[in-house]
Amino acid sequence: MDLTTPISQLTKVGKTSAKRLEKLGVKTVQDLLYYFPFRYDDYRQVLPINKLMPGDKVTIRAQIELIANKRSFRKRRMITEVLVADNTGGLRVVWFNQPYLAKTLKPGDWVYLSGVVKGQIAGLELMSPVYEKDLGKETAHTARLVPIYPLTAGLTEKQIRFLVSVAMPLCQAVPEWLPSEILEKYDLAPLPAALAGIHFPHNEKELALATNRLKFDELFFVQLQANLSCRQRLKQTAPELKFFETEIKQFVQSLPFTLTKTQKIAAWEILQDIAKIMPMNRLLSGDVGSGKTVVGAMAMYNTVLNGYQAVLMAPTEILAQQHFKTVSKLLEKYKVKVALLTSNQASCHSDRVPRRHIGGRVEESLSSIGEIPRLPPRLAPLARGPLGMTATKKSVINEINRGGIDVIIGTHALLSEGVEFKKLGLAIVDEQHRFGVEQRKLIKQKATIKGTLPDATVGMLDFASAATPQAKSAHFLSMTATPIPRSLALMMYGDLDISIINELPPGRKKIITRLVEPFKRDKAYGFIHDQVKLGRQVFVVCPLIEEKEQGERNKEKGEGGVILKPLMAFSFFATPLSEKKSVLSEYEKLSKKIFPNLRVGYLHGKLKPKEKEETMNKFKNGEIDVLVSTSVVEVGVDVPNASVMMIEGAERFGLAQLHQFRGRVGRSTYQSYCLLFTDSDSGRALERLKYFELHHDGFKLAEKDLAMRGPGEVYGIEQSGMNELKLATLMDKEIIKKAQDAAKQVVDDLEKYPELAKKFAQWERAVHLE
Ligand code: ADP
Ligand code: MG
Repeated sequence: MDLTTPISQLTKVGKTSAKRLEKLGVKTVQDLLYYFPFRYDDYRQVLPINKLMPGDKVTIRAQIELIANKRSFRKRRMITEVLVADNTGGLRVVWFNQPYLAKTLKPGDWVYLSGVVKGQIAGLELMSPVYEKDLGKETAHTARLVPIYPLTAGLTEKQIRFLVSVAMPLCQAVPEWLPSEILEKYDLAPLPAALAGIHFPHNEKELALATNRLKFDELFFVQLQANLSCRQRLKQTAPELKFFETEIKQFVQSLPFTLTKTQKIAAWEILQDIAKIMPMNRLLSGDVGSGKTVVGAMAMYNTVLNGYQAVLMAPTEILAQQHFKTVSKLLEKYKVKVALLTSNQASCHSDRVPRRHIGGRVEESLSSIGEIPRLPPRLAPLARGPLGMTATKKSVINEINRGGIDVIIGTHALLSEGVEFKKLGLAIVDEQHRFGVEQRKLIKQKATIKGTLPDATVGMLDFASAATPQAKSAHFLSMTATPIPRSLALMMYGDLDISIINELPPGRKKIITRLVEPFKRDKAYGFIHDQVKLGRQVFVVCPLIEEKEQGERNKEKGEGGVILKPLMAFSFFATPLSEKKSVLSEYEKLSKKIFPNLRVGYLHGKLKPKEKEETMNKFKNGEIDVLVSTSVVEVGVDVPNASVMMIEGAERFGLAQLHQFRGRVGRSTYQSYCLLFTDSDSGRALERLKYFELHHDGFKLAEKDLAMRGPGEVYGIEQSGMNELKLATLMDKEIIKKAQDAAKQVVDDLEKYPELAKKFAQWERAVHLE
């Protein structure tokens, strides 16, 4: 047996088990060594039977005296009843539905039993303890810090522990890839010891040393990659977009409001960056409503003034339309040609572009550019032409490719329909993490194969740096309303500069937030009714209903013990959710029973884009009072007249996400409200929601979320290298710092460290293949 031995060749691994292990990503012995526990049960305390107290979580070492199966007549379960004794006394032990135990354990056997002591009328008892025969060897399942692994159906903890224990000697065979100077400088445990220590630690100290080392490895590779991609970027060039001071000043002065201080700083940082020859790779992070769009628009305007095109990509159709309207309005007076391109719509607006909207019929032609000024931007619904693409859309695309359009706004459709920008200077992606995995893949492909988007994008999107040296690139800006703490951003993107807008424009009222107790539901409905009578509008966000058939996987059973990475282990196991179902039933209830006299509408992801748009427009125009919807409304939709955000199943959403929902209201001078409902009585869930009631700072909420749920849950980060982090989290600030330093130290002479270079190449390949 060596590290590459397939798992199927180990003793006791049949075909089915091998398949199940493969599901967990375990194919070889090495994979097994890298399949880490996510927590440990602390069964180190071994007590004599006469010292047991109810509630103790202990191990006993005792001899089986009697063992027998019987059937309970009430619940029809098989009960295995056992009497055990050590030299201090005897104890009753029971197991349910495991009749084979009566064959495995024989009177006279010495066993370790680990479990929680229960006090029954008849005396103390151990119920369903973990058992392990005392074979005079080190135990694996009892009487120690017992590793608990994430499982898949059909596998048991004992099986995995057994296999790992078989593979343990091979820890010694894993080559050390870290240079010894690094090991020494950062006081890291040798790899074999770390691997042994993470599976079967003898004490907390050993466990801490092990996790420290293994976390370091994970973070170190991420940082090394970031350093390398930064070096790549240094080799690329982007157009130097000079700062048009007079024009930008005029732009700022003609805004209907004064920019906040942090908006100004962010804009300044961006304008400085894009004036450089090195491509900008910057994240603009700012709370919902903090005014990122105008900052983005300013940068786009400056780009256009330099004779280059700018593109703004949004994750949803609704949001793209909204951006199109906002940006057109901001830039129309400067004769900037703005176009919208989504998979369903194409439209163009500038005061030099004519349009012939006649009623609902649209014949928009970009070829006949004339002088028809100041029409409000409009959206052109598309009638499919013979080639599956309308003339309008085609002409918009042609126009983009020809360079006749300055600012292009759209969804990922921009990537897939033959768009080849003539002269791209700046690419902005809004809410990048909301793009689906598929779309992100597409962005990556497009960027690498066609070079349409700047190479920096690739680095931003998933760490891949596919840059060709000396490539001409565009500047890249990513905007997000999910407040990303600096530490996370550094880890996610590594090679990235960050601007943060951390204040809201003055005059915004705090949104009154309440977790509503179930018995006050009617009162809440009454309140909503009153708000509508006052002329306001209401969002109702629905929970996602879980489709149960997937089955509960490995849900946390015992509390306590040593938790290595709280909850992270579960983020892979998301159950599929049906949003449509919950929206429709909520809509039924509200429109028929609760608010029969109000105008109720609904919105969910399965609707056609056109239907979505219609409903959204109705809501915006005040033709719908109460809009029932899914998280579709989460992203950037602007309806100033809405004053109530009601959220059902609030415990199912992350705090950052709830905060985004809340940001949908309070966009005007009306006092606004956020009402949370939950059926959960889990202490954790209520604690989170209570915290949300009291806190209005998106960054604080994000930090809390990170601490409670981990970044995978909070940011939906599948593609960014974060999934390479099995152990490390953002809370590991010290290790992150060390890994950063260490990566800088070796990046320039990787050739000197062949083991490291080899391992790093493997790691990179693994990241790419996902
Ligand atoms: P977000 O950062 O969530 O994308 P938006 O860019 O949509 O926020 O801005 C929210 C609203 O605030 C818009 O209606 C915008 O016109 C307005 N706004 C932006 N900056 C300011 C400011 N400095 N003062 C007042 N209102 C502003
Ligand atoms: Mg926005």
